[in-house]
Amino acid sequence: MLDLEPVRKNHGYFADADPDPVLMVPDDRLDRLRMIGTEGPVHVVPDDPSIATFTTEHRNGEVAPYLVVEGERHGHTGVWVHRGRNRFRLLVAVYARQTIHVTFHFVTDKHGTPRTPPAQMDDEIDTLNEIYGANANVHFRWHNTRHPHIDFDFSQRIDDAAQDKMWDLLREKAGVGNEMRHHWNVFVVRRFDAADTDDFNAWGENRFGKNLCLVDDSGLASPTPVLAHECGHFFTLRHTQTAGDVMKQGTQKGERLHWDQVVRLRRFLNGVGA
Ligand SMILES: [Zn+2]
Repeated sequence: MLDLEPVRKNHGYFADADPDPVLMVPDDRLDRLRMIGTEGPVHVVPDDPSIATFTTEHRNGEVAPYLVVEGERHGHTGVWVHRGRNRFRLLVAVYARQTIHVTFHFVTDKHGTPRTPPAQMDDEIDTLNEIYGANANVHFRWHNTRHPHIDFDFSQRIDDAAQDKMWDLLREKAGVGNEMRHHWNVFVVRRFDAADTDDFNAWGENRFGKNLCLVDDSGLASPTPVLAHECGHFFTLRHTQTAGDVMKQGTQKGERLHWDQVVRLRRFLNGVGA
C-alpha cells in the first residue's frame, strides 16, 4: 500500500482529514512528503496545476522518493499519486502567509500587577507559531507591550452586565481599527476567576470573533496551550471534545487543530463570514 509521510511532523499534514488526507502548503515555499510502502514508477495526476504543481525527487542514499509540492496560487485542489499498482489521494491547500500582531497588556488592577514575567511571551509566541504557523500558515509577532492600570476587580464573580462593562473597559484600551482581524490584544491580570462555569474557560476568555483575550497568571502558568485556545475563539473556533485538541477545555487540551478548523480560521482572517 502506498502511503505519504510528512518530512516534518505535523507540518500542515492531516493524515486523518475528512474525506482525504490534506497538506497545507505555504505559498512561499515547497513542501515535501515521502512516498513509502510500495515500489514502482511514479505517476502524478494533479486536479489543477494552476493551484499547485507536483514533482518527484530522489535523494542520495534514500530508497523512498519524495513528492515535492509547490503552491502556485491561493486555493484548494487535489492530486492522485500512483506508484506501481497502488495510488493515493491527497488534498492540497495553498495558503498565503498571514501575520497576527500581538499586543500584550500587563494590567494592574485591584489585585495588583501580574506575576507572569513579560519575557515568557517569547515562548507563548513560539507555541502559537508551532500550532497556527505549521498548520495554517498564520504567524504571530510580538508587536507591543503595555502596562495599563484599570480600576476594576477582574476576579469578581460578576453577572452578564458587569462582564459587558469589563469587556468595554478592555476595548477602550485596545482601541478599534480596520486591521482588527490581524491585531490581537492579550490582557494579562493577576486573577481572573469570574469564568468558573462550563460556559467559559477556567483561565482565560476570548469572545467569539473578537480580538480581545483576558488571561490570568494561573492560565499562563499552565502547561497546556491556553493562549492558543483563546486565540482559537478569536478565530471563531468552538470547543471540541477530544483530548489533545487545542479547542478542548481544561487540562486535556493539546496542540491538535482539525482541518475544518484550519479552513474556518483562514476564512475568518480573509474576512469571509464570521
Ligand atoms: Zn474556550
